[in-house]
Amino acid sequence: MVSGEKVPHCKNRKIGMMGGTFNPIHLGHLLAAESALEAFSLEQVIFVPAGNPPHKRGQKLTDKMDRYHMTVLATASNDKFTVSRYEIDKEEYSYSVDTVRHFKAEFPDAEIYFILGADSLLSIMEWKDPEVLLKSCRFIGVTRPGYYSDVLVKKIEELRKNFHANLYFVEIPAMDISSTDIKKRVKEGRSIKYMVDEKVEQYIKDHRLYIEE
Ligand code: ATP
Ligand code: MG
Repeated sequence: MVSGEKVPHCKNRKIGMMGGTFNPIHLGHLLAAESALEAFSLEQVIFVPAGNPPHKRGQKLTDKMDRYHMTVLATASNDKFTVSRYEIDKEEYSYSVDTVRHFKAEFPDAEIYFILGADSLLSIMEWKDPEVLLKSCRFIGVTRPGYYSDVLVKKIEELRKNFHANLYFVEIPAMDISSTDIKKRVKEGRSIKYMVDEKVEQYIKDHRLYIEE
């Protein structure tokens, strides 16, 4: 066990799931999860760092254990946040449709709420088996700077109409933060303070991440 690690659990029925590369995890991710948790009275949010994300094939990805450790560090202070090793422990590429199936089998009585940002929601039809995925659980789309709410609402309506998807929309305080920008800042020697959890900032320094990218 890594210090601060908490095991995903389910006592009542509503659990959130937030997938991502988390390279690195930043405050935008944490705020999205917390906002969805509060809006839907979720029991917990399980963060699922991706192992080998198919859409980032060919790109240099920080070691998955570094991404996992940073996710554990960033979520340690929130009792309702846990981190799953499911995707990082898999050898093959990870697909959300399989991950949702895994959690449904693990927590058969739970309602799974898949939390995702506007950019992810807009591209969901490019994911593996989108129709199966859309029917397999509930979705909470959150706003993200750079993506207009009306475009998001339109997409949600379209997915509801075409696939009877259980999709909800939550407007969250805008945080214009991305992992791509954080990596760029580290490489340029600029500050990432107040964009990532302090422990994540320290981890990046200690392990000299993102310097050579
Ligand atoms: P990258 O720049 O590498 O794509 P990212 O910041 O988009 O990184 P991801 O790990 O790709 O982070 O995102 C995981 C999930 O979190 C996605 O559903 C994404 O839409 C959402 N998300 C990321 N950043 C934000 C943010 N600032 N506000 C709202 N949602 C976000
Ligand atoms: Mg992204």
